[in-house]
Amino acid sequence: MYPFSFTKAPSTREALEAGRRGGRYIAGGTTLVDLMRETVERPETLVDISGLPLDEITVTERGGLRIGALVTMSEAAAHRKVRTTYPVVSQALELSASAQLRNMATIGGNIMQRTRCTYFRDVTAACNKREPGSGCAAREGYNRTHAILGTSEDCVATHPSDAAVAFAALEARVHLLGPGGERAVPFAEFLLRPGRTPNREQALTKGELITAVEIPAYPRPLKSGYLKVRDRQSYEFALTSAAVALHIRGGVIREAKVAAGGVGTVPWKLPAVERALIGERPSERLWARAAASAADGARPLKHNRFKVELLQRTVERQLRIVGDNA
Ligand code: SF4
Repeated sequence: MYPFSFTKAPSTREALEAGRRGGRYIAGGTTLVDLMRETVERPETLVDISGLPLDEITVTERGGLRIGALVTMSEAAAHRKVRTTYPVVSQALELSASAQLRNMATIGGNIMQRTRCTYFRDVTAACNKREPGSGCAAREGYNRTHAILGTSEDCVATHPSDAAVAFAALEARVHLLGPGGERAVPFAEFLLRPGRTPNREQALTKGELITAVEIPAYPRPLKSGYLKVRDRQSYEFALTSAAVALHIRGGVIREAKVAAGGVGTVPWKLPAVERALIGERPSERLWARAAASAADGARPLKHNRFKVELLQRTVERQLRIVGDNA
């Protein structure tokens, strides 16, 4: 460790003021403290926001759900409205980490968590995300767990959050508060692909604070679920995952929301899969045909070619699980 200052924000206004001066927000600390121990992150000032009133789950006027940024993963996963309305979110959260971590980690922190690329966490390795311009050790190194979609010459790391995949599928919005006021950003625009600046990961301006994630209302019934494929059955990050939500009425799929995890530099929305489903009647043939386009545009690396077929199979299987129960 190294010296840093720590301050607990007594109010949102004071938190924003500290953030504007360059303070780094911390709540559960389950990612940031690890990274500080490994000296991957070296913030000079930590601003503890855990006491701010951002810990409620409320139904929006339009019938969607607003999850406060400081709601813990455990609380969100167990919340009756989340479980009954958007089980895909509950399942993604429960499959994310150990119970101890889920009790500490917050929704805001979960979508802000940083990649598990081992080279990023090894301060002796070249890593453009940690140290811009230093190179990418993963490109020529061992890249079995890395991304096949949304990569750039400068970075091929996956985004590690499961909940973010569910939020991306459901086209959630991230509510932000900063020196310039409030705004809401579509989830697809909040997390940034690496491009030439993999060190810039979110569409946040200096001092901005996540206040909530809002999931829009969907027609009922909406069946949904999350499937995570990994090397072992618990406490492991996804090799591939699929978040699926379907609204089927009169035997026809009217709404389809699908995203994949473990394969993209950001949670990967699958619009071609969604288009293939809408207006069709559920069938084994449909699930296979729609999932066939799940890996369109993939650029696998030396060690992760298996992810192309694994992704198609993961999406097909989750379409079947959700669709057959709809
Ligand atoms: Fe760093 Fe990204 Fe390369 Fe990993 S994949 S070493 S995070 S630049």
